[in-house]
Amino acid sequence: MRRIALKAYAKINWALDVIGKRSDGYHDVEMVMQSIDLCDIVVLMEKDNRVSIRCDMDGIPVDEANTAYRAAALIKERFGIAKGVEIELHKNIPVAAGMAGGSADAAAVLVGLNRMWGLNLHEKDLMALSGIIGSDVPFCVVGGTALARGRGEEITALPPAEGMWLVLVTPEQRVPTAEVYGRLDLSQVSVRPDIAGMMDSLQHRDFKGIARNMVNVLEGVTIELCPRINTVKDDIMRQGAVGCCMSGSGPTVYGLFEDEHAARKAYAALNRKYSQCFVAQTVSLGVQVVEEVF
Ligand code: ATP
Repeated sequence: MRRIALKAYAKINWALDVIGKRSDGYHDVEMVMQSIDLCDIVVLMEKDNRVSIRCDMDGIPVDEANTAYRAAALIKERFGIAKGVEIELHKNIPVAAGMAGGSADAAAVLVGLNRMWGLNLHEKDLMALSGIIGSDVPFCVVGGTALARGRGEEITALPPAEGMWLVLVTPEQRVPTAEVYGRLDLSQVSVRPDIAGMMDSLQHRDFKGIARNMVNVLEGVTIELCPRINTVKDDIMRQGAVGCCMSGSGPTVYGLFEDEHAARKAYAALNRKYSQCFVAQTVSLGVQVVEEVF
C-alpha cells in the first residue's frame, strides 16, 4: 500500500503587525514567521476513492471542517484524482494556540499528496493552492524564516534563522483567532513592531536586537481574554530568556534563549508549573517527509 509520513512543523511569529482592515473582512498584516521543530505527524495512506481522516486528539473535527481533510479534498477535486486517501493525524501542536497547527497539517497533506499522486506541482503552485485553505498555509508549505504580507499568504523567504532555542508555554485556554482580530482596535495600539529591524537582527543573529523587536500587536487584545499571559511572560523572563513574546493570536508565549543549555534549564523549571510547556529549536522548513512507501 502506498503510504507517506510527514512532519508538519508549528510556527511562531518573531514579530506581528496589523496594517488595517480590508473590505473582505480580513486584516492586512506584516509578520516575520518562523518554523520550529514542534510538530504534528501526518500519515497518508492511499485507498479506494474517498478522503477519510482520523485524529488522536479529542475535539478535533474529523470531517470537512478539518484543514487536512480540506487540503486533500481540494487537491483531489482540482486535479480530477479518482483515488482516495486515509489521513491519520498525530497531534502535538496545541490547538487554537497561535502556532498554526491546523495550517501545518494542511500543508503536509498538500506536500504529501503531490508526491503520492505524482502531480509534480512546484512549491509556488502548492503555495497558491494552499491559500484557499487558510492564510497561514502558504507559509507552512515553505516554512523556515519568512516575511508574510497581505492576509498572511504573500510569502517572501528570508535567510534561515535555524538552530535558535526557544521555550514555549501555552496557557490552558483556547483563543479563537477570529475573536482576537475582531476585538483589535488599531487606534489603541501604542507599540508597533519594527519589521525591518527584526529582519536585520535575525540575519545578524543579534539576540538583543531580536529581543527588542519581538513585538506582537495582538498581544494586548489576547491578554484581555487570557490575563494569565502576563504571569507566563514574567515566569519565562525570570528563567533567563533574552526576550519573550506571544505567537500569532496566542495564547502561546515563547521565550528566546541564548543556547540549548539555557533553554533546557528554563524548560525544566517551567515544565513543573505549566502542563503545556515545550522546548524547541527553529528549523528551516515547514514540512518534512519522514517515511515513504510507494
Ligand atoms: P493559527 O495560528 O493558524 O491561527 P491556531 O493555532 O490558532 O492556528 P489551530 O490549531 O489551527 O489554530 O485550530 C483552530 C481551530 O481549527 C480549532 O478550533 C480546531 O478544532 C480546528 N481544526 C480544524 N482542523 C484542524 C487540525 N488539523 N488541527 C487542529 N485544529 C483543527
